[in-house]
Amino acid sequence: MTFIRNNAFILSILYWDISLKHKTDIVVIGAGPIGLFSVFEAGMLKMKCHVVDALNFIGGQCSALYPEKPIYDIPAYPSISAQDLIDKLEEQIKPFEPTYHLGQQVIGFHPQTDGTFDIITSKDTIINAKAIIIAAGCGAFGPNRPPLDNIESFEGESIMYSVRNKSLLKDKNIVIAGGGDSAVDWAIELSGFAKSVTVVHRRNKFRCAPESTNRMEKLIDEGKINLEAPYQLHKLHGAEGKLHSIDLIGFDEEIKNIQCDVLLPFFGLSMDLGPILDWQLALEKKHLSVSNETMETNVKGIYSIGDVASYPGKLKLILTGFSEAAIAAHNIYNLVYPNQPLHFEYSTTKGVKIDEKL
Ligand code: FAD
Repeated sequence: MTFIRNNAFILSILYWDISLKHKTDIVVIGAGPIGLFSVFEAGMLKMKCHVVDALNFIGGQCSALYPEKPIYDIPAYPSISAQDLIDKLEEQIKPFEPTYHLGQQVIGFHPQTDGTFDIITSKDTIINAKAIIIAAGCGAFGPNRPPLDNIESFEGESIMYSVRNKSLLKDKNIVIAGGGDSAVDWAIELSGFAKSVTVVHRRNKFRCAPESTNRMEKLIDEGKINLEAPYQLHKLHGAEGKLHSIDLIGFDEEIKNIQCDVLLPFFGLSMDLGPILDWQLALEKKHLSVSNETMETNVKGIYSIGDVASYPGKLKLILTGFSEAAIAAHNIYNLVYPNQPLHFEYSTTKGVKIDEKL
């Protein structure tokens, strides 16, 4: 039984051309807050995890959609920003040494005769695990890519869909495409830091906070930001992953060429549950049906927690997902250690070696 989006031929090529096959107790699909906390719960029961996420950073919705927003319903934190919550979760699970596989989507899995699974990612990584926890939220996040020829060959070095390391943009000619908060906020942030900042937008109006538009307009008047509107991205020029310039196209089909070392297209993120829907797992309105006593799906060894999991009375909240992570880990223990009964213990009894390996 093979569950993979593409056909069996592609799977067989992937499967037999394995250069790197990892082995672990649990593969966690999704590095959102709930996937991350499941590493803690698994770790407390001496189970190792590999965590895969389509994004090239951890944090799921918290980091991708609302990092600066305060969350008020995390127990014991009257208020904590979404990114701080993720930073604290990362710190909390560090002693359990999770292995991250970021920037790759899990596209399929292959059940083995010994009851384990081989999980396959879009970068051909294969991970053998005794159990799978699907903590996929609303699906794999991916940037909305502008439809430009050859765009993949510039991604990473010259085209970035999010800014994780601002220093890489110092003294570069930056082109920012888009008309929302991210485009305007980064144009303001990079003006004076980059060599030049050009904002390309297909309209003259921006969809962002009015104060941000006012600040950007002031910087445009001062000559610190160039505005090209109404224009759209048309063609990329460069070689070996490095951009040199971009052609823009106006409504009257007029082409304008501008210098560009780094393009930041900010056209939002798309979410795609995609391949998971094809895995023959029981579904309830595009969510995975689980038993809330175990968090197991209809397939033995495959569990689901967090926003993507569904059962009667489900509340889509981070705190609910944390509890689901604990329930799933306690049930997976019997798969990983079939001959060792689980004796329930509090974390205060077990302890966590914060600075050393467990
Ligand atoms: P997500 O955070 O969605 O993470 C899932 C991850 O799985 C993603 O990173 C995705 O890329 C990855 N993924 C999916 N499919 C694959 C695949 N096939 N391969 C690899 N990776 C994959 N909740 C609260 O409790 N309190 C609040 O105040 C609150 N405020 C919110 C405000 C906003 C603006 C939003 C958008 C949400 C808010 N939420 C709040 C909801 C909360 O963020 C979610 O409940 C939480 O993020 C769910 O966590 P998760 O780990 O289940 O999924």
